[in-house]
Amino acid sequence: MTPAHEKQIPLLSKTYLREFVNGFLNRRLFFSDLVHKFGSPLYVLEEAVLKQRARQFKTAMNKRLPDCGFYFAMKSNNLPQVSRVLLDQGFGLDVSSGMELSAALLLGTDQIIFSGPGKTRTELELAVGNSEKVTVLLDSEGELRRLSAIAKEKNKKVHVGLRLNTNPEGLWRKFGILLDELGPLYDKISGSSHLIFLGLQFHSSWNLDPERQAVFIETLGGFLKIMPDQFFEDLKFIDIGGGYWPSQGEWLVSDQPLAHYCIPAAPIEAFADCLAQSLETHIFPLTQCRVCFEPGRWICNDAMHILMQVVDCKTEDLVITDAGTNTIGWERFETDYFPVMNLTQAMPEERACHILGSLCTPHDVWGYAYFGKGISEGDVLMIPTQGAYTYSLKQSFIKPLPRTIVVEEIGSPYCLD
Ligand SMILES: *Cc1c(COP(=O)(O)O)cnc(C)c1O
Repeated sequence: MTPAHEKQIPLLSKTYLREFVNGFLNRRLFFSDLVHKFGSPLYVLEEAVLKQRARQFKTAMNKRLPDCGFYFAMKSNNLPQVSRVLLDQGFGLDVSSGMELSAALLLGTDQIIFSGPGKTRTELELAVGNSEKVTVLLDSEGELRRLSAIAKEKNKKVHVGLRLNTNPEGLWRKFGILLDELGPLYDKISGSSHLIFLGLQFHSSWNLDPERQAVFIETLGGFLKIMPDQFFEDLKFIDIGGGYWPSQGEWLVSDQPLAHYCIPAAPIEAFADCLAQSLETHIFPLTQCRVCFEPGRWICNDAMHILMQVVDCKTEDLVITDAGTNTIGWERFETDYFPVMNLTQAMPEERACHILGSLCTPHDVWGYAYFGKGISEGDVLMIPTQGAYTYSLKQSFIKPLPRTIVVEEIGSPYCLD
């Protein structure tokens, strides 16, 4: 019995996986041509996928809710072209640092929300300096005081919201304020002639289903009943954050190279049904305000892939690639499973083999198997759906970083660097 079996994690269906892999193998010539044209390794951004996800997410929510706002969480993929495409799709940007705020401003948007703990004076000054474009989601009473002082110094009025903590236990306690603090902090904001209160935000990540978010909406609804009428007149939005897991589920490695686990995830339409119902029951009787969303992973996960080549076939079951995991910035594939596909010797059948990167560390793992007839030096390998929390975390460690190729719906692929 493996530990995962004891925890009852279901296996990833082989039929589902084969279909998933075939979707990419059907386009193998297109992808391997990119390597022949631009070199290896590569990050490939497919704009069509990004646009499709943006539309699907918006449609799911707009169908069920009267007034929605959408903000892409830039930290999940900080390639400016990703944000640019999403701005074109009617999204705003959710930034969580001064660096991301500067990037958002450079993209020319005035739809920015700035959340995150411990915003520095420099970061708050940047927000105040661009107060007509940014809503600051305050993380604490101290931050309220600091922002109010800067706004006063610069004689600006700043739009603000309050971030609510959803879980005061453990390490998530660092985020936002407790519900008990909402009344007093709302009063402080109302008392400041430089801050304009607009809304509330909460965010919990890694939701495979909407249960946790729906439960917090219920808690919030119960709590808001004691707020004064003026609060509901001021309240323009409730932002329920991001954290929607892509519908293919969370794929994990097992101790067998050809068996993989899959923790199932709800489709985004099921999230929308459940969240809308919870809002209708617990929030809309009190206020008909706009509902905002900050999806990151769900939007960008499937829109980027990594291409690389085999440098050294050391034995039949051990190959070294030209890309190292500095490309993604963390030891992802020691626990997460994604198929490694040999585009050069394509076949929708998986074979056990250690696929390892070329960094001087044993933690440089891409996978424990590959899809293909065989594997040889020079073969082009693809790891699909690496758009979330990889590109932003890439680091120049030992090996150089891959180039980034953008594939537009029409027109030829082009290189960004
Ligand atoms: C990271 C983050 C998100 C995005 O989370 P995903 O899991 O990528 O959807 C949204 N809002 C806030 C405040 C965040 O910190």
